[in-house]
Amino acid sequence: MQLHTVPRSPCSSGSVFFLVGHQLSKWKTYNGCNLDTGFFGSRFLHTNQKDNKRCISKFFGVPMFCSASIRSDSFIPSKEQLSNARLIYSVAPAMGHNQESHPESHFRVPAIVNALEEMKLTSKFRGPEIIELQNFEPASVDDVARVHARAYVSGLEMAMDQASEKGLIFIDGSGPTYATATTFQESLVAAGAGLALVDSVVAASKDSQDPPTGFALIRPPGHHAVPQGPMGFCVFGNVAIAARYAQRVHGLKRVFIIDFDVHHGNGTNDAFYDDPDIFFLSTHQDGSYPGTGKFDEVGAGDGEGTTLNLPLPGGSGDISMRTVFDEIIVPSAQRFKPDIILVSAGYDAHVLDPLANLQYTTGTYYMLASNIKQLAKQLCGGRCVFFLEGGYNLKSLSYSVADSFRALLGDRSLASEFDDPNILYEEPSKRVKQAIDRIKATHSL
Ligand SMILES: [Zn+2]
Repeated sequence: MQLHTVPRSPCSSGSVFFLVGHQLSKWKTYNGCNLDTGFFGSRFLHTNQKDNKRCISKFFGVPMFCSASIRSDSFIPSKEQLSNARLIYSVAPAMGHNQESHPESHFRVPAIVNALEEMKLTSKFRGPEIIELQNFEPASVDDVARVHARAYVSGLEMAMDQASEKGLIFIDGSGPTYATATTFQESLVAAGAGLALVDSVVAASKDSQDPPTGFALIRPPGHHAVPQGPMGFCVFGNVAIAARYAQRVHGLKRVFIIDFDVHHGNGTNDAFYDDPDIFFLSTHQDGSYPGTGKFDEVGAGDGEGTTLNLPLPGGSGDISMRTVFDEIIVPSAQRFKPDIILVSAGYDAHVLDPLANLQYTTGTYYMLASNIKQLAKQLCGGRCVFFLEGGYNLKSLSYSVADSFRALLGDRSLASEFDDPNILYEEPSKRVKQAIDRIKATHSL
């Protein structure tokens, strides 16, 4: 595949292209917290190493899988384990996929895992309530190619030689989005971590009306990756790949995707724009990257009405999102009647996040996780899996994911220990109401 121009899907503007040696554009001042390299214990050098079906070698200390093997279900916890669990998570930190001072860095997932340990939200402290999935397999190229063009997938694989030679290449100018020698394999592992959670949650739901919720702590993120290529830090559309997988492997025809990342999930939007069986609902900051996700982008053809884009004015925060949840998300999901709910869980709408200007708090994320779990229980047998997307202030990211874990466990929120109400300003309530009224009218809610 040419490492240059790849046409983008019709719903996006411009074209996706592989840039080599592209100048990094300046980031908004990075506001990450202490980047403690102590996170990188041996744990992250051995994640996902398992069976002899794979050929594992090390590159920068990261396991490499020579081929994506046929998926097995040997990683699925036993019936007894599933019946005792409230939360199942998987970890795919992509330690080799990293560029110095890029906000989408290999510090992100370890920061979360470290916080979960510190806050006693792992199975070591909580016993059978929490399961960390081990030994799951990478997604197969076929799984990925049900969302992305094969030419893109094979082109990225071939570009790994070049990345290996140069150390780092830029594969999309927007963002920009980079790749290293391990990006292809680690992106398959990230997508596979989501598929394994779908398998586990579906297995649990066969024996329980209240199965554990899944949470994929993965990167690179996925929701900007369009069918024809990478975009906006994202390589493969993890949530979109999981949606197709849930339909094909588990017969879960109707998939409801909630994307509360601060940016529009344009890749997921494009993948299912004309698909009536996958409802994509995105809330995002109006005018933020990539500029898509307007009110009138509602789907096309048979899929008209099963895409809902709600751009929120800058400054929208906790009050706004609670209203949006009750007045938009709940009725949309109730009307759609999903078989499973998947969540693009981005934490960059947090007031402390450096990449945007919404005012969600740690408490907002607790509310979202708790309410979405409840919604899944009411509508689709509790089948629900969260996928990490954005979130670039390591502290607010890790505290917010931890509070999401508490919500999914049924614990009380500890957000007040982290959130500082003094840094919040008044939400633009009139403009939020106008936005809500407009989307209600557009979708007859
Ligand atoms: Zn984002």
